[in-house]
Amino acid sequence: MQRIIQTIFLAYNNTSRIHRMMMVILTVITFFAAIFRPFIYYFKHEHNVKNMALATHQFQAMPLKGSKAIDIYSSISDDELPQDDVTQKDTDAESTHEYIISSGDTLSSILTQYNIEMSDIALLTKKHNDFRNLKIGQQLSWIINDSGALQQLRWEVSRRETRIFNRIGSSFKESHQWQQGTWYNSIISGRLSGSFISSTYEAGLSRTEIDAIIKAFQWQLDFKKLSHDDSFSVLISHEYFDSKKIQSQLLAVRIRSGRKDYYAIRAEDGKFYDQYGASLGRGFMRFPTIKQFRISSNFNLHRVHPLTGRIVPHKGIDFAMPIDTPVVAVSDGEVLIAKYSGSAGYYMAVRHGRQYTTRYMHLKNLLVKPGQKVKCGELIALSGNSGRTTGPHLHFELWINQEAVNPLTVKLPNAKNLIGKERRMYLSKIKAVMSQLQFN
Ligand SMILES: [Zn+2]
Repeated sequence: MQRIIQTIFLAYNNTSRIHRMMMVILTVITFFAAIFRPFIYYFKHEHNVKNMALATHQFQAMPLKGSKAIDIYSSISDDELPQDDVTQKDTDAESTHEYIISSGDTLSSILTQYNIEMSDIALLTKKHNDFRNLKIGQQLSWIINDSGALQQLRWEVSRRETRIFNRIGSSFKESHQWQQGTWYNSIISGRLSGSFISSTYEAGLSRTEIDAIIKAFQWQLDFKKLSHDDSFSVLISHEYFDSKKIQSQLLAVRIRSGRKDYYAIRAEDGKFYDQYGASLGRGFMRFPTIKQFRISSNFNLHRVHPLTGRIVPHKGIDFAMPIDTPVVAVSDGEVLIAKYSGSAGYYMAVRHGRQYTTRYMHLKNLLVKPGQKVKCGELIALSGNSGRTTGPHLHFELWINQEAVNPLTVKLPNAKNLIGKERRMYLSKIKAVMSQLQFN
C-alpha cells in the first residue's frame, strides 16, 4: 500500500501543473460519482390519489377541469409556487385530498382508506343518499383538519355541477356550484302548416318551449283555432355549455292570426305582458257571488255526508243563500257543461284557461250554454235548491289541474297590468324586442 502511494506521489511530482489540477478534479468527480445514490421519488398512481397540503382558499380557486384536474399540480414544481404557498405547505393544519372514482368504489370505501371516521361518513350518507350514485370518472375531494376530521367534501358531478358538503356543527350542509354556460338569443319563426305544435316543433322549438308559449297565451288564444298560414315568431335564449344546449328561456312571442297580432313579452318580473304592458294572465274572484254569504259546509275531503252518513269528500264550499241569488263566473272562461244532473241538480262547469275549472251546483236557472265564452264577474245562473240538498244553497268547486282545491284558501293567480315607472321601462325595452319578431 505504501509503495502504491509513493508511486502515485512520484508520478504526481513529475507531472506538469495543469496535469496535477486535472487529476485532482477527476478524483473529486470520481469520488462523488461513487458515493452518490440517486433519490427516486415514486409517485403513487394507484387510485389516482394525490395528497396535497394546500390551503382551502387555494383549492376553491382551482379551475374545474374534470378528471384532468389531477394533473394540474403534478406539473408545477415547488419553485414555481409563490413563496407564501411553499411555506404554508409545512404549517397549514388542513389538507386537501383528491380522488377519481373508479369501478366498485363507494363513498365509505374511499374515505375509510384515508382514515376518515365512520361517524363522519355516516353523517354524509344518512342525509344525502345520492352518494349511492357515484359514477366512474367523477372527482371527489375533501378537506380534513389536523385531527383528521372531515371538514368539507366536494363532489364534481359533471363539468357543470359540483356539490359541496360543508361541516356545520354536527352535520353537513349541502350547496351547489354551477359553471355558467353562455346564453345566445335566437329567433325561430315560420308559418303554420298543420297544428301549432307540429309547425313550431318542425321550426326547431322543443315541446317544453312550445308548452311555455301555449301557457303564456292561454287566456288570449285558442291554439286549435289557429289556421293554415297563421305565423309565429319566437325570441328565445338558449344556454350552451360544452357546445350543448342546457336550458332555454322564452323571451318574446308574436303570433299573427288572420290580421291580428298577439304578443307575449317577458318583463323583469318574469311574467308575460302584451305590447301595452297589460297582463296576459287573468285574475280570479274569491267568491262566485257579488255579496258574501255564510258558509254552511266547508271544503272537506273526509266529510261524513249529512244525509247518507257515509264518508263522502266535500269537494267544494256550500254558501247558504236565498233562491234567485245571482251567480257569477269567477274568471274569464268557456262554459263546458250546463245541464240538470241528479244529485247536483241544475249545474254548470266552466273552464278557465288551461288549468282551472269551476263548478256551480243546485242552481235554479242556467243562463249560459255549453261552448259560450264568459267574462270574469258575468252573470251565469241564479242559485236554487235543485238536486239533493237540505236547503237552498250554492255548492261551488274550484279545480286546478284536475284536482279539487279549497277555493277559499288556495292561492289564486293575480293579473296586474304594469303601471307607472315599471310600465314606462317595459315599453321602452320592448321596442328592440318587437322589431326582431319578424316572420320569414
Ligand atoms: Zn256542497
